[in-house]
Amino acid sequence: MRKDTIDGYHVEVSPSICRFARSPGEQTELERRACDEIQKDIRRHIDDVGSVIVVAETSSTCEFCGYAWTESSEYFNGGCCDKDIEAEDQRTGKEFTP
Ligand SMILES: [Zn+2]
Repeated sequence: MRKDTIDGYHVEVSPSICRFARSPGEQTELERRACDEIQKDIRRHIDDVGSVIVVAETSSTCEFCGYAWTESSEYFNGGCCDKDIEAEDQRTGKEFTP
């Protein structure tokens, strides 16, 4: 049986982006800038802070169809779309059959 133990505490701070972004890329850029400003403000104004680190949240998707990446391979996503299969066929020189 699993036993859970609290090993320590830290504070997580998330930015509040009020402006409506026009694209997902713009949204992440606004978040990064807001996090950089929060990081500077925390260092400047708050005592007893050991470290302030901006952490990127990442995810993996197929570059062709945008489907979530589910495979351990970094080249082939199990045939999520025709282009994924085509790329695998070209990479391996074999024809993939699901
Ligand atoms: Zn795909």
